[in-house]
Amino acid sequence: MAHCQFCEVSTTNGFNIIWENELFVAFWDRKPAAELHIQLVPRQHIGMFMNLRINTRPMSSESSRKRQIVEEKRRRAWFVIRIYLRAVAVLSLNCSQVRSMKAIGEKLLDDLGSPPSMRVLGFHIPPFNSVNHLHLHVQGLPYKPLRQAKYRISSGFAHFNKGFGWFVEAEQAARSLETGRTIGVFPC
Ligand SMILES: [Zn+2]
Ligand SMILES: [Zn+2]
Repeated sequence: MAHCQFCEVSTTNGFNIIWENELFVAFWDRKPAAELHIQLVPRQHIGMFMNLRINTRPMSSESSRKRQIVEEKRRRAWFVIRIYLRAVAVLSLNCSQVRSMKAIGEKLLDDLGSPPSMRVLGFHIPPFNSVNHLHLHVQGLPYKPLRQAKYRISSGFAHFNKGFGWFVEAEQAARSLETGRTIGVFPC
């Protein structure tokens, strides 16, 4: 059974929780890369595939997380076939989920007095994510010395919302998902 640290976010497990509701929990990053650095995660285990696509099941705080991890392993085994079959169903939930996470992150930064022009909210793209449980990096800049490289945003060009890079802004992600694209390291 895979152990997932973000399935077990609680103060007793050593997390410094800043905000939570029944679906999401936000906590201070243990090794902050920026002046303000929060991780926002769904309570339900939502794994990230090689490309950023999120599963279709509605979020539920009661559902068994262990069972979800087993299911995810099985899903990964069927990844190549199923991702195409499910692609259409996946999209609408994906962008709305990304947008609601972004809204929560922005609200947290509002409350902390972080100026809007000094914010970065985004996701790492597998395999460059260190924890395979969907997590939004919510950052109030400036970055600490030498810590920015992991979070470099690559601007879109032509019809791409994002250029080459392993970090995607929440807004770039939502727009790519909206237009039916899979988010990866390459431009999308
Ligand atoms: Zn998890
Ligand atoms: Zn990350």
